[in-house]
Amino acid sequence: MEPRNVVIVGSGCAGNTAAIYAARASLKPLVLKGHEVGGQLSLTTLVENFPGFPEGIDGPLLVENMKLQAEHFGAEYLDGGVVEADLSKRPFRINHEGDWIETRTLIIASGASARWLGLPNEQKLIGHGVSSCATCDGFFYRERKIIVIGGGDSAMEEANFLSRFGSEVTVIHRRDQFRASKIMLDRARANPKIKWLTNTTVEDIYDIRKNMVTGVKLKNMATGQVWEQDVDGFFLAIGHVPNTQVFRGQIETDADGYIISKGGARTNVSGVFHAGDVQDRVYRQAITAAGAGCMAAIEVERFLEAEGH
Ligand code: NAP
Repeated sequence: MEPRNVVIVGSGCAGNTAAIYAARASLKPLVLKGHEVGGQLSLTTLVENFPGFPEGIDGPLLVENMKLQAEHFGAEYLDGGVVEADLSKRPFRINHEGDWIETRTLIIASGASARWLGLPNEQKLIGHGVSSCATCDGFFYRERKIIVIGGGDSAMEEANFLSRFGSEVTVIHRRDQFRASKIMLDRARANPKIKWLTNTTVEDIYDIRKNMVTGVKLKNMATGQVWEQDVDGFFLAIGHVPNTQVFRGQIETDADGYIISKGGARTNVSGVFHAGDVQDRVYRQAITAAGAGCMAAIEVERFLEAEGH
């Protein structure tokens, strides 16, 4: 079988935009959707800063529209994720859920996933009080006690959002300096429903026997004091981890796993391109991811053209 012209890993804003451009260039792109279909946009509600929508647009609808647009021009989509990749020679070989796919070029648009604290009970209680998505799960915590872990813009945004639902929202941050921008921090500080615990870390989450979050064990880093607190909703907002595990050792990344760009959308491997949050640890916006997807597709088109495909 002839190799594919281009395989796109990831179906968020970056992957879908790359698919639109590659499909319009008649490259018949194959998009491997990944395990977080639609990427970060599918976990949001109203997006107010994507140009062209004066009233805003729901994130899941925006990303679904992008997919429909790409399919309209001939892009194909497959469910599931990449389990292995061989980028040592061309055509590249991608193992997608056990099936090997050959491709002349590759666009890695696999994004970044929520970071977890790594506590033993945390993963077991996901969906039972532990969440990394306030907009997805906030609704379930009406008049309940909520904590938000983190000191960045995401934590401020989530705390403000969750204050619409919870009886109280406590931001728990491991330092007393915040990474959040001043405007976001000021807004959260002005919210009377939000309480603050700084220099504080979470030591444990209860109650695994009841299969629901009932409380947490906390520690003050300055004094060493340890105490327990009743909690119903436990929301993580401690950043993201780039989804590059299957490409490690083959694609140059930084210490955190973000792909190192070699200019434009190029990686250190000729014929492999990056798009979106998998490389961008600075801007991470829907519009910048879309722009990066466009860049990657244009580079693929030129790369293949130069090779006579
Ligand atoms: P972030 O800026 O990297 O902040 C992560 C926070 O989590 C930091 O305060 C960090 O603490 C804390 N943290 C990390 N690992 C931890 C651990 N293991 N235990 C406890 N705390 C931990 O991530 P973000 O808030 O998700 O923001 C990411 C980017 O998106 C930023 O550029 C941000 O400006 C942007 N953003 C913008 C908006 C907006 O403008 N509307 C909204 C959300 C996000 P330390 O500070 O101690 O490292």
